[in-house]
Amino acid sequence: MYDAIIVGAGPAGNVAALRLSSKGHRVAVLDWRFDIGDKLCTGIVGTECGEAFPIPSELIYRQANSATFISPNGREFGVVSRRDQALVVDRVAYINEIAETAMNAGASYHLGHRVSGIEMDDTSVRVRVRASNNSTTFSAKLLILSSGFGSPLIRMAGLREGKDGDFMMGAQTEVEIGNVSDTEVYVGDQIAPEAFGWIVPLDESRAHVGLMSHHPLNGHLDSFQSRLKERGKILDDISAPRRWGIPLKPIPRTYADRTLVTGDAAGFAKPTTGGGIYYAMLSGQMAATAAIKAFECGDFSAAQLKGYEDDWKKVFGHELKVGYYARLLFESMNDTQLDRMMEMFLSPEVQQDTVLSSDFSFDWHGKTILKTVRHQELGPLITSFGAVVAPFFKRLIRSSIF
Ligand SMILES: Cc1cc2nc3c(=O)[nH]c(=O)nc-3n(C[C@H](O)[C@H](O)[C@H](O)COP(=O)(O)OP(=O)(O)OC[C@H]3O[C@@H](n4cnc5c(N)ncnc54)[C@H](O)[C@@H]3O)c2cc1C
Repeated sequence: MYDAIIVGAGPAGNVAALRLSSKGHRVAVLDWRFDIGDKLCTGIVGTECGEAFPIPSELIYRQANSATFISPNGREFGVVSRRDQALVVDRVAYINEIAETAMNAGASYHLGHRVSGIEMDDTSVRVRVRASNNSTTFSAKLLILSSGFGSPLIRMAGLREGKDGDFMMGAQTEVEIGNVSDTEVYVGDQIAPEAFGWIVPLDESRAHVGLMSHHPLNGHLDSFQSRLKERGKILDDISAPRRWGIPLKPIPRTYADRTLVTGDAAGFAKPTTGGGIYYAMLSGQMAATAAIKAFECGDFSAAQLKGYEDDWKKVFGHELKVGYYARLLFESMNDTQLDRMMEMFLSPEVQQDTVLSSDFSFDWHGKTILKTVRHQELGPLITSFGAVVAPFFKRLIRSSIF
C-alpha cells in the first residue's frame, strides 16, 4: 500500500509528489497521458513562481517586462514595467522537470493509467485504474486529486453535487509570426465575447495565439487569426487549435476523509487572466504539508485534513474572490465602456498608480484591482456606466471589506 496516490501529473500533482517523496513517503502518481504536462497552456508564469519553483534557464523562452493592450476600438496601449514581471516558458519541459525530480526522489509514476473509480473504508482509499486493456487497483492511506479542470473524480469523491462550477473556455494554437515581438492582448466582443485574446511570442519565429471566454467560442479563434494574418503578425499555422476549460471558482469543499483536491480540479486558476500554474503548485505544496501532518498523527479524517483548506484560503482565497468579482465587473461592460476604461486605466498617469506601482504583482492581482476601483478617477468613471455595471462594481467593493 502507498502512503499517497496522486491523480494527475500536472503542476499541482508533481509538486505534491516531489514534496512527499522528498520526505521519504511512498507515492504513486497516476496519469492517463503518456506526455507529462502536455496540456493546453500558454506557458506564462510570474517571476515569483519562477523563484518559488525554479525553472532551468534553458526552459525559459524569454523574460517579459512589457505588453501591449489593444482596446475594442483598436487603440494600442503599451505597458513597460521597470523590472521583469513574467517568464514565458516551455511548460511541458518545466512540468516534466519537476516530475523527473520527484521520480529521482522515489515517486513511482504510472503513465497511461486512467483512474475511473474511488472506494474508501476505515483503513485505506482504493482507486480503480484502466491501463491499456487491463484494469487494476491501487491503494493508499490518502488520495490527492490533481486531475485538472472538470474532473469527474471530484463528484466521485463526494465533493461536488448539482451543476458544474463557473468556468471559461480557452482555445489556442501555435503559429509562425511576422512583425510581432512582444505579448499583445486584444479586448472586445469581436475578438472574444466579454474576455480577451492574446498573441505571445515564444521566440523570433513562433507564438501562441489564443482566446478565452465565458461564452461559446464559435469561429472566434479563426477570425482572430485571420485578423492577425491580415496585419502580417501571423505568417502561418503550426498546430491545429485546441480547447480546454479554465475554472473560475473553487469547488465547495477541497477535502474529505482521506482526500485532498488541488489545482484546477479544485478551481484555483486566477479568474482575471486564467493563469493557474502557480496556484496549482502552491496548492500541491500545501496538500503535501497537510498529508505529512496526517501521516504523523495517523489521522486521515476530513476534520484533520481541513487544515489544508484553511491554508490555501489564507494564501490565495481572497485573491480568487476579488479576481472573480473583477471578472464579472469586466464582463458587464460593453465595448464602448471598455474603450473608455482602458483609455483611463492605461493612461501613463494612472499606470503609475496601478500596474507600474511597486506593489503590482503578476501573481497577486487583488491589491491592484482594489486600487483601481477605488481610484479617484477610475471609480467615478465605472460608476457612471449605469445600472448594468453598478451591481458588479458594488459587489467588488464589498468583497474587499470581508
Ligand atoms: C488556453 C489556456 C492557456 C493557459 N495559459 C496559462 C498560462 O499561460 N499560465 C498559467 O499559469 N496558466 C495557464 N493556463 C491554466 C493552466 O494550464 C492550469 O491552471 C494548470 O495546468 C493547472 O494545473 P493542474 O496540475 O491543476 O492540472 P493539469 O495541468 O490540467 O493536470 C491534470 C492532469 O491530470 C490528468 N488526469 C485527469 N483526469 C485523470 C484521470 N481520471 N486519471 C488519470 N489522470 C488524469 C491529466 O492528464 C493531466 O495531466 C491556461 C489554460 C488554458 C486552457
